[in-house]
Amino acid sequence: MSENVQLPPPDRLSSRHMQLDWRVCSRARLSRDPRFDGKFYIGVVNSRVYCRPICPAPTAMEKNCHYFPTAAAAAEAGFRPCLRCRPECSPGTAAWLGTSNTVARALRLISESGLEDGGVEMLAERLGVGSRHLRRLFLRHLGATPSAVANTRRLHFAKKLIDETTLPMGQVALSAGFGCVRRFNAAIQTTYRRTPTQIRQVARQKVVQPEDQYQFQLRFRPPYHWEGMLAFLSLRATPGVEVVEHGSYRRAIWMNGCAGQFGVSLDAEHSALTARIQFGDPQSLFAIVERIRAMFDLNADWMEIARTLRGDPSLATRITAAPGLRVPGCWDGFELAVRAILGQQISVKGATTLAGRIVRLFGRRFAGDSSLTHLFPTAEVLADADVTRAGLTRSRAATIRALARAVCDRQIRFEGILDVEAFLARLCEIPGIGTWTAQYVAMRALGEPDAFPAGDIALLRVLRLASLKQLQHRAEVWRPWRAYAVTYLWSVGNEKSPKGTKLEHYRAAPSRQAEVA
Ligand SMILES: [Zn+2]
Repeated sequence: MSENVQLPPPDRLSSRHMQLDWRVCSRARLSRDPRFDGKFYIGVVNSRVYCRPICPAPTAMEKNCHYFPTAAAAAEAGFRPCLRCRPECSPGTAAWLGTSNTVARALRLISESGLEDGGVEMLAERLGVGSRHLRRLFLRHLGATPSAVANTRRLHFAKKLIDETTLPMGQVALSAGFGCVRRFNAAIQTTYRRTPTQIRQVARQKVVQPEDQYQFQLRFRPPYHWEGMLAFLSLRATPGVEVVEHGSYRRAIWMNGCAGQFGVSLDAEHSALTARIQFGDPQSLFAIVERIRAMFDLNADWMEIARTLRGDPSLATRITAAPGLRVPGCWDGFELAVRAILGQQISVKGATTLAGRIVRLFGRRFAGDSSLTHLFPTAEVLADADVTRAGLTRSRAATIRALARAVCDRQIRFEGILDVEAFLARLCEIPGIGTWTAQYVAMRALGEPDAFPAGDIALLRVLRLASLKQLQHRAEVWRPWRAYAVTYLWSVGNEKSPKGTKLEHYRAAPSRQAEVA
């Protein structure tokens, strides 16, 4: 490649169209730009290995490089994952990156539950399209079939378990969803030309963990505003269930009939979050890790988001002051929805206190560390509970019971959501849940990047707008990232401060809602 070629700026790589611009890829590869990690992969013709843009190995000549939008595409083209840069460790691809809504929904389903036995046919049926059409869409947007995407994902997780845990191989096979050890061995041997045991022998870091404890590095594309994420979660941490201290977040969890806990902290040097998981059932690890990734918004394509939001001057200054802010997700949709109802028209602090009381009255005891004493109560428990005992108004208590009942009856689910509009409509059918609450839940529980609590009084105040109509209009330019814009406006620089970078996070803002429940 000639050095004189005028290269476009890095954000020319339009991830929304999945058409890779080789010049952009090339420049990112040569400079090992971490902002592109996970946005494309490089297949090197002579070695038949595929790499992340940040691979520390000597850079290959341009003529020997192929660029792929996904790891699955590189795998389908016959390239093997590099053992040095470990493509399984790259930040994920944001699920909404495809221009195709169908692909985005399919990716969401695959990431929640893999591609189950029904395979592509079943997936296509759930999406209401033909399986051939679905394959074509996948090939166009991701360069790989749905099965290849699901296989690569499973293989990558298996590799992570081999490298980063001391789980016995039989357990690794099951935890990564291989069904049997023979299939797992065969898949690893074909992909890596090594047995699982040989791979573990060369894994660079030997982490010896106590039984039932695991530690994973979960990568992101920098920048990541960890302090902002923690500040948001800290104000809302439910006493007994969650705690934010010493720069980390910890919480008690319940999954597949088993209780446990995890903690997350920043590893800035490796552009990663460190997740420490304590859980008795290793088969749940995959799901736990995926949920943590979603909760901390690790797949976000920051460059793309910032490029759009900088178009609004009041956001541009905030982005400059605090680059890398993410939309805080949640561990559990039901828990978040309850929290959102509690927070209607009272301060965040007040809602946190109420949540703590509900947990003490109705949550299960949990023998975690000293700060984690309870599990958040399940929908089954709250559906029949007298929640007014926690000091809620009658109407608020009725709303929580109705929500819990709808969740028990599977009228409302927080997983496998294909139609967000229908989800919002069902939530709003519950007396006491209005558009603001529903949009807030979509923003944090479904990770909808364009969710927008339109009736938010605090946003009016921050933007000095006179009406909700003006706010709606202003927000049009933030699409499809309105949830990120909202997070910025709620969090950054709303109080006059000398540095202008103060993270406020609603310290004193009651009733964010215009709606009256
Ligand atoms: Zn590599």
